[in-house]
Amino acid sequence: MEEIIFLGTGSASSVNFYNSCFALRKGNEYMLVDGGGGKEIFMQLAKAKISFKSIRHIFVTHNHIDHIIGVIWIIRKIAILMKDNKYDGIEEDDKVGYDEGVDINIYAAAETIDAIRILSKLTLAKTQSDFIDKRIILNIVKDRECIEILEEDFTFYDVKAKKEKQYGFKLTMKNGKILVCNGDEPCAEENFDLLQNADYLVHEAFCLDSEKEEKEPYKKAHVTAKDVCDIANRLNIKNLILFHISSEDALGRKEKYISENEDHYNGNLFIPNDLERIEL
Ligand SMILES: [Zn+2]
Repeated sequence: MEEIIFLGTGSASSVNFYNSCFALRKGNEYMLVDGGGGKEIFMQLAKAKISFKSIRHIFVTHNHIDHIIGVIWIIRKIAILMKDNKYDGIEEDDKVGYDEGVDINIYAAAETIDAIRILSKLTLAKTQSDFIDKRIILNIVKDRECIEILEEDFTFYDVKAKKEKQYGFKLTMKNGKILVCNGDEPCAEENFDLLQNADYLVHEAFCLDSEKEEKEPYKKAHVTAKDVCDIANRLNIKNLILFHISSEDALGRKEKYISENEDHYNGNLFIPNDLERIEL
């Protein structure tokens, strides 16, 4: 993978930020991780200049509303393109291109695949949902299952979430670097072996440590930025990327998170805003 593009960085109820989701880019192709909670995913993809034809893979961490509903909108859009014979994966300026009529692959735990199937059936036109299992392929992933996607090695894992069943992944890239995404709950000790020495960890940080009395992150199965920094130090994480943040302070959020933790965390700390990109 060459780049991670944050389409959203907010928590479920965020107003000034889209719900947390991102794209991984390799050449002209993209893998999406979650879709956020609505049709705003279309605006975020347009602003990031990511065309639907170049999205060939989607991983969905869990079936909460702020992660899965945007995926249903993407399925709808791609089904319409498929119906019109326009989902061929060929970008206008792409010299290489693909054969006509490519598939899209969606990966998630069994519970989340069930939710995608049910939501699609309930909310999409039959002409759209009919593409499911034909060209919209729903792939159930199991704990610690390794799958090659875009010629990169993904190990999907159960994050042992306190709320719904939730999966994250460890991506071992061709350049040798490792990126781990733990979804929107704190990483569990039994998964520390997957995170140890990772080059990048994408992790939720619901609020600052100074806000924990007011925002009560632990009641919501979330943690503070300082809590994540402690884990990242312990596991020798080189670059820590925090998202799924509840703060509405679009200007000050980044500064406050960094200033509270810069003397505390040993690696590089990133607090991306929506549409920010990080080269991998
Ligand atoms: Zn969430």
